[in-house]
Amino acid sequence: MAPRPHWLFGDQLGPHFLAPRHGGPDDRAPVIMIEARSVLRRRRFHRAKAHLILSAMRHRAAELGDRVTYLRTETYAEGLEQVRGRRDPAPLTVRHPTSRRALDFVSARENVEVLPPKGFLVAQEDFAEWTARNKGQGKGAGAGALRLEGFYRWVRERHDLLMDGDDPAGGRWNLDHDNREPPPRGQDTLDVRGPWRPTEDEIDDEVRRDLDRWERDGEVSFVGRDGPRRFPATRREARSALRHFVAHRLAGFGRHEDAMLAADPVMSHSLLSVPLNLGLLDPAECVELAEQAYRSGDAPLNSVEGFVRQIAGWREYVWHLYWHFGEEYRHRNALRHTAPLPDWFLDLDADAVTANCLSTVLAQVRDTGWTHHIPRLMVLGSRALQDGWDPEAVTDWFHRCFVDGYDWVMLPNVVGMSQYADGGMMTTKPYTSGGAYINRMSDLCAPCAYRPTHRTGDEACPYTTGYWSFLHRHRTRLSTNHRTARAVKGLDRLKDLRELLDLTAERGDAPP
Ligand code: FAD
Ligand code: SF4
Repeated sequence: MAPRPHWLFGDQLGPHFLAPRHGGPDDRAPVIMIEARSVLRRRRFHRAKAHLILSAMRHRAAELGDRVTYLRTETYAEGLEQVRGRRDPAPLTVRHPTSRRALDFVSARENVEVLPPKGFLVAQEDFAEWTARNKGQGKGAGAGALRLEGFYRWVRERHDLLMDGDDPAGGRWNLDHDNREPPPRGQDTLDVRGPWRPTEDEIDDEVRRDLDRWERDGEVSFVGRDGPRRFPATRREARSALRHFVAHRLAGFGRHEDAMLAADPVMSHSLLSVPLNLGLLDPAECVELAEQAYRSGDAPLNSVEGFVRQIAGWREYVWHLYWHFGEEYRHRNALRHTAPLPDWFLDLDADAVTANCLSTVLAQVRDTGWTHHIPRLMVLGSRALQDGWDPEAVTDWFHRCFVDGYDWVMLPNVVGMSQYADGGMMTTKPYTSGGAYINRMSDLCAPCAYRPTHRTGDEACPYTTGYWSFLHRHRTRLSTNHRTARAVKGLDRLKDLRELLDLTAERGDAPP
């Protein structure tokens, strides 16, 4: 009997998604890929993201050659109908998609078998078992919530990652303390080899011509600047990027992981979220290669543990929380924030912004569709939180503007981590700060027109005023949280609070 065709989504592009030994389709199964234009028409994506995803899909189709039927249609439904017929549709297999919407779509089709998910270390049933055992162990605010640290240690033990027998390598589970250093003084870049970058080919050119044409015809509209491509689009490129990172950059990953430098946006970060989320790399190979570097003495433990924590801890945790929290999670708005996103932010208009940190980071997003986790959390997300922007609109903005943004990774990171819209299901406190934190962790404040310590007057830092205004607005809720109660008490010591609140109101939603 001829094997059933297999439908491959655009974030399932690595060979492991097709391997029969990983619960995949028959290795003779014909493959179907669908480029649905309606996805791009629906929302205003970053152009570099649209380019990257189409380039990666078309590169994969070229590799699969005669085995693949590559369809360019308006919708997925139309594409499926073309290959399976309308009545009594032919059977098909598909891997568990990464978004709820896509899962509902495939589950509702007749004669479609959904194969187990791939691309993560922990199986869904194992996570369910872990949550059943660990719910309710938090303390104080957010008690009953799950916490990363326990999950991460459980993954390390279960997958024998960075373990010496029953103990964590080096005797400590958590080396965060060594990984929170400010940027090195007097340097505008880290002393580390630059990240791996690809060379474009004719497939990239073809995608760019298509995007130009669709934009010219008014079919789609994008934000941000596109090109040259900065991230892997094939398995071979993804492997090169991983090997380059581990050989040349992993050793310095830990120390300045949370620091920001204006002239060095990537610092020692891996840039591997893109190939991981496209399915071009498997998380297991990333953490295994990193561990090998530690065992052979090529990278110190703090860097390797920091990297393993990001991939085997945070990435896995976020994936499972997406499914665990359920569909209504995306609509959570515990702080009742309803302000619309201002146009300068929606348009990535960095030049309209005076605040040097925000202008610098917004320009990085405009030009590359990427910044590392601290600018995302403490500059972009913090601005939205302090100004009370609608969390659902903030989530949509991150999803559209970031090259590594997908529904599963956005919801916990933005709704939970960055906007505290879930009221503490994911984190014990809201993540936001005044200018002092940004000043300590970056070189962004020195050339800024504002002063991080000023709360009032023309030079008042919008992050400092925003921080106090936020605490004031949510005083009642935050005073009962043991992690924020002290900060709220600090409000009473501010003699200029009234003036500060007036200034915040006066500045309104004008670019800070
Ligand atoms: P590195 O610093 O080198 O870290 C290594 C890897 O760890 C990353 O490649 C990524 O795969 C993984 N990782 C680390 N933290 C997380 C996390 N919180 N969630 C998921 N994976 C994680 N990550 C995305 O992959 N896509 C997103 O759309 C995304 N949006 C974010 C939005 C906000 C507001 C915040 C605070 C974080 C977001 N993250 C997202 C997590 C993190 O910022 C990025 O994974 C990271 O910056 C990507 O760059 P990198 O590959 O150089 O990461
Ligand atoms: Fe940002 Fe304030 Fe520092 Fe300026 S002074 S860079 S606005 S934190």
